[in-house]
Amino acid sequence: MRHIAVIGSGPAGYYTAEAAQKMWGSEVEIDIFDRLPVPYGLIRSGVAPDHQSIKGVSRRYEAVALSDNVRFIGNVTVGEDVSIAELQALYDAVVLATGAPHDKPLGLPGAELTNVHGSAAFVGWYNGHPQFADLAPDLSGQTAVVIGNGNVALDVARILAKTHAEFAGSDIVGLALDALDASGIERIVVLGRRGPHQIAMTPKELGELGQLERASPLVDPADLPDPGDDAVLEPGQRKSVNLLRAFAALGDAERAAKPITIEFDFFAAPRAIVGDDRVKAVEVETTRLDNGRAVGTGATYTIPANLVVACIGYQTSPIPGVPFEESAGRFANDEGRILPGLYCVGWARRGPSGTIGTNRPDGFSVVEKIAEDIGDGSTKPGRAGFDRLADQRGLKVVRFRDWQKIDEAEQQRARDDAPREKFTDIDRMIEAASKGQPLP
Ligand SMILES: Cc1cc2nc3c(=O)[nH]c(=O)nc-3n(C[C@H](O)[C@H](O)[C@H](O)COP(=O)(O)OP(=O)(O)OC[C@H]3O[C@@H](n4cnc5c(N)ncnc54)[C@H](O)[C@@H]3O)c2cc1C
Repeated sequence: MRHIAVIGSGPAGYYTAEAAQKMWGSEVEIDIFDRLPVPYGLIRSGVAPDHQSIKGVSRRYEAVALSDNVRFIGNVTVGEDVSIAELQALYDAVVLATGAPHDKPLGLPGAELTNVHGSAAFVGWYNGHPQFADLAPDLSGQTAVVIGNGNVALDVARILAKTHAEFAGSDIVGLALDALDASGIERIVVLGRRGPHQIAMTPKELGELGQLERASPLVDPADLPDPGDDAVLEPGQRKSVNLLRAFAALGDAERAAKPITIEFDFFAAPRAIVGDDRVKAVEVETTRLDNGRAVGTGATYTIPANLVVACIGYQTSPIPGVPFEESAGRFANDEGRILPGLYCVGWARRGPSGTIGTNRPDGFSVVEKIAEDIGDGSTKPGRAGFDRLADQRGLKVVRFRDWQKIDEAEQQRARDDAPREKFTDIDRMIEAASKGQPLP
């Protein structure tokens, strides 16, 4: 028997479990740990609440979770409730699938001012992540600046722009919907250091900005390269750039009908966040491209801003005793191997890049490495050993059947037009999981 502990129940964790099942069938036991009492990582707390079809991938993970040789061990933070060394003594392989849950620091003067948020926090807030439920971003001002030119920046801009009715069918949490209902934002500026050819925005997400009820996208035609230059782009990127061209061609009449503008400000590098204790403006330097890199031109201007959301990337949290590659914000690893018996996968291995599906080959590849390293497994105690440790330590472990009770309770308390109303508080989750009974 092989005993595997996977730390993190996001896509990378579940694809690893699926790969291990495929590799060893009933000859493996897998425990999937998560610090939250609820599974699925960024599928629940990152993917936009108005993109329910993407969140549907969790049904595939549920099939893995419900098999006999896989257990969900929620509400256990590895590195705090239990150490890596303890898990290594119990399991043949420990796989870190902990994602990259922290914002990369903005590193600008004024970044600490009130109402400057990173996207991990801001997205976590509207998606009901317990760590960010109290963020309370102030949406009462007129202008929001979104820093970054990737899909997360588009998610944030779109969520800020949507009407109440446009959230029908989404699982945006009630507290965020209430705040957005009262929002005063009329101008959303999306800042990119480079130009339209360098965006990391996919056509689906970009196209949605052209379909919003009360917001229209604005692109300065002068920022667009010569149309002939698009020939060098790969087809997806060409589609995205075509959408930017269509936004640039929108007429004043079409724009006037919509009170919110989502303005793409290309060749614009933020240099400072300005304010007393609260953000008032963003100071920007115009850039030009030099061999694909943005270099400052020395010309600066100021955008008045009441809210700033920095969507500039994520980093993994270090865990005591695990080698960490500070510059890349991920665990130091050689194709998933960290130390003997210790592996990483997904965003914890690669850093924050790729789609949900990119994590699948990652999971399968790390299981191949584990197979090379552990052979037929060992006599380590595996899950029985962990259960003893959890008992001794009084850990309130949330199992998959407990999550199913949380899931049911969230669905029952949903608004009329929503699939669920998430609990944003760990105690409320545990209460729903135990339905008044203490968890075993
Ligand atoms: C805002 C946003 C929107 C996105 N939208 C899309 C999209 O629309 N389509 C798409 O294809 N991709 C999207 N992605 C990318 C996708 O979410 C990632 O590729 C994927 O979630 C990475 O999977 P992961 O398993 O490595 O990490 P995660 O999904 O982050 O999972 C990590 C898990 O580890 C747990 N954990 C962390 N530390 C510990 C610890 N110490 N102990 C126990 N558990 C721990 C966390 O609670 C979490 O459940 C989006 C990403 C973001 C940030």
